[in-house]
Amino acid sequence: MSPDHSRSFVTAASDMTTPPDEHFDVIVVGAGPAGSAAALVAARAGLKVLLVERGEYPGAKNVSGACFYGSAVLNELIPNWWEKAPVERYVCRRDLVLMSETTAVSMDFRSAAAGYVEPPYNAFTILRPKFDRWFAAQAEAAGAFLLTSTVVDDVIKERGRVVGIKVRREHGEVRGDVVIACDGVNSWLAKKAGLQRDLHDHEVSLGVKEVLGLDEAVIRERFHLTGNEGVAYEYVGAVTQDVRGGAFLYTNKSSLSVGIIGQVSSLVEAKKRPYDILEHFKSHPAVAPLVRGGKLREYSAHLIPEAGWKMMPQLVAPGMLIAGDAAGFCLATGLYIEGINYAMQSGIAAAKAAIHACACRDFGKHTLARYTELLWPHNVFTDFRAFKHAPGFVNGNRLQNLYPDLVAHGTEMLFQVNGQAKQKILPLSFKVMRQYKVKSRHVLSDLYKVARAYLW
Ligand SMILES: Cc1cc2nc3c(=O)[nH]c(=O)nc-3n(C[C@H](O)[C@H](O)[C@H](O)COP(=O)(O)OP(=O)(O)OC[C@H]3O[C@@H](n4cnc5c(N)ncnc54)[C@H](O)[C@@H]3O)c2cc1C
Repeated sequence: MSPDHSRSFVTAASDMTTPPDEHFDVIVVGAGPAGSAAALVAARAGLKVLLVERGEYPGAKNVSGACFYGSAVLNELIPNWWEKAPVERYVCRRDLVLMSETTAVSMDFRSAAAGYVEPPYNAFTILRPKFDRWFAAQAEAAGAFLLTSTVVDDVIKERGRVVGIKVRREHGEVRGDVVIACDGVNSWLAKKAGLQRDLHDHEVSLGVKEVLGLDEAVIRERFHLTGNEGVAYEYVGAVTQDVRGGAFLYTNKSSLSVGIIGQVSSLVEAKKRPYDILEHFKSHPAVAPLVRGGKLREYSAHLIPEAGWKMMPQLVAPGMLIAGDAAGFCLATGLYIEGINYAMQSGIAAAKAAIHACACRDFGKHTLARYTELLWPHNVFTDFRAFKHAPGFVNGNRLQNLYPDLVAHGTEMLFQVNGQAKQKILPLSFKVMRQYKVKSRHVLSDLYKVARAYLW
């Protein structure tokens, strides 16, 4: 451990020519939420930390919706963080919407309870390029060295242990006692270290997103918001056409984040282009009035690891740990699309394990395995295990394509006043089920799956 941090490497690195020749206690690859959280915690413990990021600045290439549910987690690292960070709006309303081609049926949740409209807030909308830059700066302020515009190509292994990284520059080897891979979904580093396999198309989704500029006053009026209140909409059903996935719309200060998410295997099968699905979504009668007049500011696309508990790689190797999306820690269950908070939680756990290993001067697998123990009290393993059946259920064909349509059509019939006798809900439901050729045994089996995924 060396609290006397020399800045020479960073100075040298910024001109992109001098080879990095210093030894670090911890090298963190990727300055997303997982990497910056890990670097911040390790640097605060007095370790010499290098945070390497391929982007021109942290967040430059990062994509999320982004509704950030990790307010309480971050509050433990940086008290009242929302007063200093570039947040957009706090989320006091959530709409989960089932869509047919013409109709939307939503569960509208709004709350004025503590936590939703008062600090520490439950969730915030954020824009990653601003937020990630700020968060990485907190790690720097704690003493971590941030090296941007630098791609990490490989790990250095000696006698079966990871002892550093190879960066894409001349003589680009950097040595460190612990390498924490936070390089996102499809982690190159995890694969190079032999800890992760290639992901299957059904384990990842492609998200495409637009940021649409809209006047602040228009946003408040259109979404019935006051002050800095915000709303998060999540959609499932005909919005993604035949593709398994969903869509989202989040309010920022003076823009909307609008996007669709489609399972990669399903996009290929349906031969659909994500951009066309996004256009289709924006033209839905329930969405078009919300996005009307929005001016395109940004367009981005990114993969999401969605198979949860079932796609986790090996998380620990001698000298190396894997956190965040690189470890598959994105909870996509229909009820939740949460990755940023789990990225931070796992980054913190990885840093604590690295601190422990540095204190023992033992970087073997056994000592670093403290990381997986810490993932339980940090509520990563708890949540992913609890919802391990949800990703499979959410991506089932009936839930994706049939039930949203059926519920929308049933609700249309329920609310239609056309001079005919009204039907009570049970006979009406059977009638709609017959129309959609839904068999009772399918409904029963799906109810069991819902219960298994979400109830117990
Ligand atoms: C469209 C979309 C919508 C989403 N919506 C939400 C949401 O609303 N809420 C939520 O909580 N989550 C959401 N997610 C998931 C969330 O974005 C991720 O779970 C989260 O970003 C994971 O953080 P991370 O730090 O592990 O990885 P990332 O944020 O992907 O960061 C990885 C970092 O590593 C860097 N990097 C990668 N490879 C290298 C390399 N070889 N060398 C150097 N640097 C490298 C990258 O540039 C990047 O900065 C969404 C994702 C998508 C795609």
